[in-house]
Amino acid sequence: MSDIIAAVSTGNQVCAIGIIRLSGAGCAQVAGKVFTLNNGKPLWEAPDRKLMLGQLKDAQGRVIDQCMAVYSRGPKSYTGEDTVELHCHGSPAVLAAGLTALYTAGARPAQRGEFTKRAFLNGQLDLTQAEAVIDLIEADTADAAANAAGQVSGVLQKKLAPVYHELTDLCSHFHAVLDYPDEDIEDFGLASYEGSLRDNAQTLYALLKTYGQGRILRQGVAAAIVGRPNVGKSSLLNALAGYDRVIVTDIPGTTRDTVEETVMLGNTRLRLIDTAGIRETVDTVEAIGVERSKKAIEDADLVLFVCDGSAPLSAEDEAIMDLCSDHENAIALINKSDLGRCVVPSDLPFMYVIPICAKTGDGLQQLADVVDTMFEGAAACDGSVLTNARQYDAIRRAYEAMLSALQGLKLGLTPDAVLIDVETAMEAMGEVTGATVREDITARIFERFCVGK
Ligand code: GDP
Repeated sequence: MSDIIAAVSTGNQVCAIGIIRLSGAGCAQVAGKVFTLNNGKPLWEAPDRKLMLGQLKDAQGRVIDQCMAVYSRGPKSYTGEDTVELHCHGSPAVLAAGLTALYTAGARPAQRGEFTKRAFLNGQLDLTQAEAVIDLIEADTADAAANAAGQVSGVLQKKLAPVYHELTDLCSHFHAVLDYPDEDIEDFGLASYEGSLRDNAQTLYALLKTYGQGRILRQGVAAAIVGRPNVGKSSLLNALAGYDRVIVTDIPGTTRDTVEETVMLGNTRLRLIDTAGIRETVDTVEAIGVERSKKAIEDADLVLFVCDGSAPLSAEDEAIMDLCSDHENAIALINKSDLGRCVVPSDLPFMYVIPICAKTGDGLQQLADVVDTMFEGAAACDGSVLTNARQYDAIRRAYEAMLSALQGLKLGLTPDAVLIDVETAMEAMGEVTGATVREDITARIFERFCVGK
């Protein structure tokens, strides 16, 4: 039986309501020592999962709040154990005093993520669902929240379960044939094994491909601002950030390092990366500018190519433009529209060309509209998008092991060699669903959570 844990589940700032949470058998008895129901009955006799009014006392027995308690008897609770929530007024002082009283009464402080870890260990959630809880808490766009909510309700698990199930079938058949050669077990149906492995490998491949979208959901669109020095890249970043994030001067090369800033542009969260307009020596300027831009473009989901519309395009502009030409999401911005117009949209081989003025903000609304169109609905936000690096890595290993098993079948390797690959795939998938995950990995996963969740 697990001990009784308690924590404040809401933030540590003044707000209308603050919740103290307890979990573990007997937690109603512990909470009952510091919370008395207004109807005179002990808390442990309160009706199941019903908010009840009462009084909260501190460790000295002083009434410090008039508040509500809800007692959920396990297994019908988040953790699967008996839980009590005290819905207090959200003064950090009240919550701290209430918590101290609960510790004195027999609870101990909950560790990070311990409520969700218990939910996982008690089979209330599988690991994909438990991990999605943290994504849901940390989601800062509605799309990210929708995807995490889908995963909390088990969408990812539903995708993975049939694959795991078929691998289990395959494994048990292999084992049966290998271990009981004299029994009348249907012999290796190599063709059907191959078909099943290929189908399931394809399912994993499709899932792995969603990871790019998942990263966007979690971290925002990685947007590289590229262009030769002095065209206004840093000014654009500052304009989008709404404050002077980067020092802007008319001395080329003042941005010496790559600068990152997360901003909302329209409905899209952008992780802006301003590539430095570095000028170390006159000879290396072009090479460095182009080299940096190349790397930034490769890593970016969106490229914002900036040129100075008040000056003719230079060879360096052309070189950087060339680098953008293969990118699927590239927008050209003709900056300094307040000055003379030496560059017109038809000079630039981009699908989207927008004149802007980083100084006044002109054209930025149009940029926001284009970016929204490019990225809106790019990801199905129903939970089927892989967002988690750990899950991605495990599914990738499972996929590679399945490819290796397929290869083994093709090459006519002995069944036990193929079996090792299939078992490796199952183990890797188990790390995602929780079926075979090691204790140390589980501990690390829940450490990412906040206390009280
Ligand atoms: P970067 O080297 O590409 O990052 O360019 P900066 O943002 O440092 O800008 C270089 C110079 O151009 C600075 O003097 C800016 O004030 C100026 N500048 C940037 N955007 C505009 C604009 O829209 N209009 C005008 N007139 N000047 C601008």
